[in-house]
Amino acid sequence: MENKDVNILWEAALVDLSRVISTVSYQLWLSDVKPLKIFNNKLVLSVKLHSNKTQLDNVLRDKIVACIRKNSDFVNDFMVVLQSDEQNLEEAESASLPLAEEAEREETESAAASSRFKSSFTFDNFVVGDSNQLVFAAAKTVAEEPGKRYDPLFIYGGVGLGKTHIMHAIGNYISATRPQLRVRYAAAETFTNDFIESIRTNKDSGLNRKFRDKYRNVDVLMLDDIQYIANKPGTEEALFHTFNFLIENEKQIVLSSDRHPSLLKNIEDRLISRFASGLTVDIAPPGLETRIAIIQRKAYGRRFHISSECMYYIAEKIDTNIRELEGALNKVAFFCEMNKVTADSIDVIREALRDDIEEGGRALNYEDILDACAAYFGVRRDDITGSRRSKQIVSARQMAIYLIYDILGLPLADIGACIGGKDHTTIGYTRDKIEKLRREDPIVERQIQDIRAKLGKA
Ligand code: ADP
Ligand code: MG
Repeated sequence: MENKDVNILWEAALVDLSRVISTVSYQLWLSDVKPLKIFNNKLVLSVKLHSNKTQLDNVLRDKIVACIRKNSDFVNDFMVVLQSDEQNLEEAESASLPLAEEAEREETESAAASSRFKSSFTFDNFVVGDSNQLVFAAAKTVAEEPGKRYDPLFIYGGVGLGKTHIMHAIGNYISATRPQLRVRYAAAETFTNDFIESIRTNKDSGLNRKFRDKYRNVDVLMLDDIQYIANKPGTEEALFHTFNFLIENEKQIVLSSDRHPSLLKNIEDRLISRFASGLTVDIAPPGLETRIAIIQRKAYGRRFHISSECMYYIAEKIDTNIRELEGALNKVAFFCEMNKVTADSIDVIREALRDDIEEGGRALNYEDILDACAAYFGVRRDDITGSRRSKQIVSARQMAIYLIYDILGLPLADIGACIGGKDHTTIGYTRDKIEKLRREDPIVERQIQDIRAKLGKA
């Protein structure tokens, strides 16, 4: 792509971004961003300040991705480099590999990464409250006595509630206390990719052995977001054998998922029953007090001064998950830094978090989602909650179910109630179906992005 095109793409994305974020945020975070080039279907952006990079990477990521995709069929993501690192990027690129070899490179990277757990994801940094104390206790036990007590440990819960954190905490703890143990952590997606790679390559080439070594030659195996292996019979089979091998050898397995094993659809029963054969614990959204404690801990960790009143205010407004809570705190800290103000009045917080907490003065609710889906598919809200089954109505209904789940994270039974009293199994089925379609069909993904954008949740 020509340089000119890169500029045009970014400018077009900026126009869309200006519609979905506040003027203040726009000026703070986007006005100094420079588009550099397209690399591996990613738009490479350059900024001067580290804090600016953090904002783009975390807080604004989804919105930027959506706006880039809207304006290009080819570019589907972005990455941010610091102006001071541009030179390094050049070097990395000139040494970089053609796409076909990418998988291999990733494998090497993930192999190396397995022994390096994120240093901030420790037990010490994990704030314990009613919602997560069981998970915490179970994880601690597993870290102290891997393979002895709860095997497998199956952790489930919604996004941003600390599943990955707790798995890394297990890894950090074992690495520190018993460095001789081999601990492997991988996203289920990586496991899948590694497996596919191992069969794609000639069996004699040694890659098969590499796969076995990687996942069997360990004392502790942790697979994150195991729901990803649904509908992948080959991978399931590989996991089944890996699983049995490790359990028989008294090795520890830790799994995480976004839902209870019994609700995992399209995964073989024999695997599900194995998943649930040890200890299954859930991690729930934190209550207000835990949210305040988390803000307190994170603010303290970054030496950011914020008044109790302000902490309380944020904790009250951001009640979805811990990732968003952290994002909100980052935003406030950045806002204060840029505007040279201190976080000691509610007005400052309101201004800093305008995009997050002031959807027209109130938070988004399920009716907004019903309305957005109805408008998008050209049906009425009553149609969605009713029982008619024309194609448009069914599409709108399924999308509404999925988005209520995706955006509000309500329990299945509650979603059923929002959709005119549907049974929670129907809701679960629909949710899984759209989740799958979303990955397989770009049109569905696009619909989701479009409706989310209309709801200001792009
Ligand atoms: P999940 O894997 O469940 O989607 P993560 O483990 O990625 O969620 O957690 C999201 C963010 O919230 C991380 O930055 C993590 O450190 C933080 N977090 C989650 N739970 C806690 C907790 N109990 N105490 C402190 N930070 C937490
Ligand atoms: Mg995670």
